[in-house]
This record gives sequence, C-alpha cells and structure tokens, in this order.
Amino acid sequence: MPAAELARLRQQLAARGLDGFFVAAPETLPRVNLRYLSGFTGSSAYLLVTAQEAWLLTDFRYVEQAEAEAGAFEVRQHERPYLKTVAALVNEAGLKRIGFEADKVPVRMWQEWREALPAVEWVDAGGLVEDLRVIKTPAEVEAIRRAAAVADRALEALLPRLAGSTEAEWARALETAMREAGADRLAFPTIVASGPRGSLPHAQPTDRTITPGDLVTIDFGATVDGYNSDETVTVVVGTPREARQREIFEIVRAAQAAGLAAVRPGVYASRVDEAARAVIRDAGYGPAFGHSTGHGVGLEVHEAPTLAGQPAVDRMLEPGMVVTVEPGIYLPGWGGVRLEDTVVVTETGYERLTRFPKEWRTV
Ligand code: ZN
Ligand code: ZN
Repeated sequence: MPAAELARLRQQLAARGLDGFFVAAPETLPRVNLRYLSGFTGSSAYLLVTAQEAWLLTDFRYVEQAEAEAGAFEVRQHERPYLKTVAALVNEAGLKRIGFEADKVPVRMWQEWREALPAVEWVDAGGLVEDLRVIKTPAEVEAIRRAAAVADRALEALLPRLAGSTEAEWARALETAMREAGADRLAFPTIVASGPRGSLPHAQPTDRTITPGDLVTIDFGATVDGYNSDETVTVVVGTPREARQREIFEIVRAAQAAGLAAVRPGVYASRVDEAARAVIRDAGYGPAFGHSTGHGVGLEVHEAPTLAGQPAVDRMLEPGMVVTVEPGIYLPGWGGVRLEDTVVVTETGYERLTRFPKEWRTV
C-alpha cells in the first residue's frame, strides 16, 4: 500500500520544485504522516525522500519492525544524534531544497537542521501529506469499512443492555465488545449521553443510570489497521416520555438525510453543511445546532475536509474522500439528538460505511 502513497508524494515534490522531503517523527511529534507514507507504526522514526531514494531512519529498537512494515523504504539505524545520519544522506544525495512539515517541527529542531546543513533551503511543505491523505485508496476505504462493521456489530449486541446500566458501565461494555469484535483499539473515548445530558455534544459517560423514556445518544468508533470509524446513533429506551422526542429526532433525521443527499463529487463541502443546516433552521432549531456538519475520517478521527460554512476550510468533494455527516439538535435542560454516518464519496454520490439504520429505534 505505501508504495502508491510514496509515488503521489514524489509527484508533489516535483510540482513544488523540491528535491527532497524530510519527515521528523520522534516520540514528541505527530507520527500519522510518517505512518501514512511508509507503513511504519513504531514510535520514533525519520523519513527522507528524494526522486530516487526513500530512507527510513530509526533507532535500534525498531530496525526489524521497520524493515517488515516499510517495504518501499531503505531502513537504516541512525546515529545519535539522528541529525548526523540525515546530514550524511543529504550531502550524499546533493539535496538543495528540502520540504518539511513546518506546522509540526519545533523552531529549535529546525534551527539545528539549518546549522547542520547550512547550504540547504528548508521549504515549508506543511499540509502536503494531509492533502494526499484526503483522497483514500480502496485499501484505506476497506479498512474504514471494516472498522465501521466491527463497531456496528458491537453496538447491535449491546443495545438491549442500555436500560438499567449507567452510562459509564455501558460505555465500557461497548468498548470491550468492539475489541472482541476485532477492533485494534477505540477510535476515541465513547460518548454516551442519556436523558437531559443529551444536550452536551461531547458528553463523557457518567454514573447516571439510563432509564425508560430516555433518549440516549451514543458516539462511538473502532480502529482497524490504523483507520477509524465514526458514527452516532440516538435511540429511545422503552416508551418515549413525550411526543417532542420523536419530533426532534425526525428533524435531525431529515437534516442528516438532506446532508447525505448533497454528498457527491464536484459539490463544495459547505453545500453539504448548508443542506443539513437548512432543515434544522427551517424547523426553528437553528441555534441548537452549533457545530459543523462533518469532517474527514481516516488515520485520524478528525481530518480534512471539514464540512462547514467557513470559506477558509471549504473544498470540493472528490471521489475517495471519506467524510461524516452528523447534524444534531441540543436543548439544554431537555436533551438532544445527533445522527452520524461515515461515508465515502463515490463517482456518482456516496456509500455509507457505517451501516446502523438511522431510523427511530426503541431498545
Ligand atoms: Zn462521532
Ligand atoms: Zn464525527
């Protein structure tokens, strides 16, 4: 898989007039881009990529693992400090203009590079790898699909146990069930918000006991092969307490359906946001939907593109993007409803990767 990613990186380097790209991912810095480009999952490594060469530098602990995981890279154990090895390779390859992730590298680290390699021009290429990550390969989509299936299976098994559990007990049970169903880990700490707590979009599970008549919002996800799923359901436990619960639910359901219906190539992400938001606004609940409609999902739970109204983050949807559509209504003191699916943009529209039906459901 990473060989394709490496090829796309090299196209970008050529387009930007860079003769090298350097990714620093020691323990203290984000590693997800290094993993994306190389396949290496250890906790510390550096990548140096040129038009012809691709080196992965790591320490004694990880040489064998890197050789197994990063097939497209020549793995070397770096000296200490690592910069000695980097400088030797840069000089050997005669690199003059090297792109680096200026949005991640601390100023002091960058100064050390400049001192060690005074002839090199270090060019800000922050966001370059994130841009590559926006369009998923079929293998990446498949990993997200598997993560979603694992999470759905666990949810379906655990829903009958909602009544009488505390939010925290039930969240722990769901997390265990996701692991048993095949999750490598959780995509994020599970959100369980019952009754009036449903007005908190990111509620941490508490010791509140889930009781008949409650609406319960559950936001959950699994990770498989590094890729995450993200899904939210709202269900009612037993007999609803009042007709308004169903009314609010149906508004959110219509908003989510409208958002999903807007997802297709060539459409701006802000249009999807507006399609969902208009339904909630027209129903009179505009101020009760205070977050963006969705976000990209992949190696990170939240990544580009953002489905929101802000022009600064807007971009056109393309096949292979994986995004969430997750409108909600939050009423302090009363509760709330959110429905979320993770979908992949296809040539003609979208395909849902999270498959739990988003209809009114009594458990
Ligand atoms: Zn979510
Ligand atoms: Zn989400």
